[in-house]
Amino acid sequence: MRHKPKYLHPENEIAFPGLKVNKGIEQPEQVNHESVRKFLSKSRNLYPAETYVDGILNRDITLLSKAVTLVESTNVRHHELAQEIIARCLPYSGKSVRIGITGVPGVGKSTFIEALGIYIIKQLKGKLAVLAIDPSSERTKGSILGDKTRMEELAGDKNAYIRPSPSAGSLGGVARKTRETIILCEAAGFDHIFIETVGVGQSETAVHSMTDFFLLLMLAGAGDELQGIKRGIMEMADLIIINKADGYNIEKAQLAKIQYKNAIHLFPNKESGWKPGVLTCSAAEKNGLKEVWNEVENFCKLTTENESFYDKRNQQSTYWMHETIKDKLYKNFYNHPEIMANLEIMEKKVLNEQISSFKAASALLEIFNRIKH
Ligand code: GDP
Repeated sequence: MRHKPKYLHPENEIAFPGLKVNKGIEQPEQVNHESVRKFLSKSRNLYPAETYVDGILNRDITLLSKAVTLVESTNVRHHELAQEIIARCLPYSGKSVRIGITGVPGVGKSTFIEALGIYIIKQLKGKLAVLAIDPSSERTKGSILGDKTRMEELAGDKNAYIRPSPSAGSLGGVARKTRETIILCEAAGFDHIFIETVGVGQSETAVHSMTDFFLLLMLAGAGDELQGIKRGIMEMADLIIINKADGYNIEKAQLAKIQYKNAIHLFPNKESGWKPGVLTCSAAEKNGLKEVWNEVENFCKLTTENESFYDKRNQQSTYWMHETIKDKLYKNFYNHPEIMANLEIMEKKVLNEQISSFKAASALLEIFNRIKH
């Protein structure tokens, strides 16, 4: 017997075969306009580092937000101040469970985050920070994830802190800023951290490298369940959740659950010994949240007992040290005026086959080394 449709499921219509990635929402120009940014950064008063640190440790959300803004700033002075704040907050960080949440636009991430977030705050008496890594922000120069208007109930709760994705910079830079923001949020007493991203590629690797548990939200598609999302992302998942298991979609979701279970069964075992599961849930009806959370708890129990939880965090710390070095070297290299001038000349020579790519690269690196030393 068919259930009466209660919600619209546009993704099941013929026009949407399988999962479809929608274009990000363009931001109104004035939101991120350079002149507005400059004005804001000039008019913003800076405090000494200890003011921010004391504020953060005293759970002052305004000062936490100001410190996060410094982390996100491209201004050198802000950057230095941010690094000092982070260094002082570091000893108070780390005491949280960091959860990555991904899935294509429309799968229900914000609805799910709000529902699970309220569950964590109300049932578990936890404190939740929701951060985001948004790869499309590079293109739109705006942030579409972690937007407060999408999670109104959560945004209104004093135990929740929602911060949209940093809106400028390379994925590496945005990811670094998010990782530093995690430290500040943890020092401010947030014991649950969600990092949201769109399930379309690279940013998952970044999120995976800064979280303990990786959660993939999926939809029950029209017979092509396994095609909507890259296999690599599925392999990273510690839990797959088929969302929108409600109304006439329940049966389809159950079927998808079996298919995903069979699929992930074939993936290589995780180092931690954790076996990823598949659950159905309805974020809209707030069904299945307890089961989802049980999985997170089981994971934490297993990995803290066998210590892989801490091993992974240590690996992540060294990974981010290397990423930061690469990011800085890359920027220093490509932004140096002498390199910029010579790069064009070398590119032309390579195109005219006057010099090999390898030799051109070596010559440029030599110039760079000379500048530096
Ligand atoms: P996001 O783009 O992944 O953040 O997705 P949203 O949370 O914005 O949800 C996209 C649409 O799906 C919205 O219209 C939601 O109301 C709807 N939606 C989210 N979760 C559910 C669910 O569990 N069941 C149903 N039927 N609809 C949902």
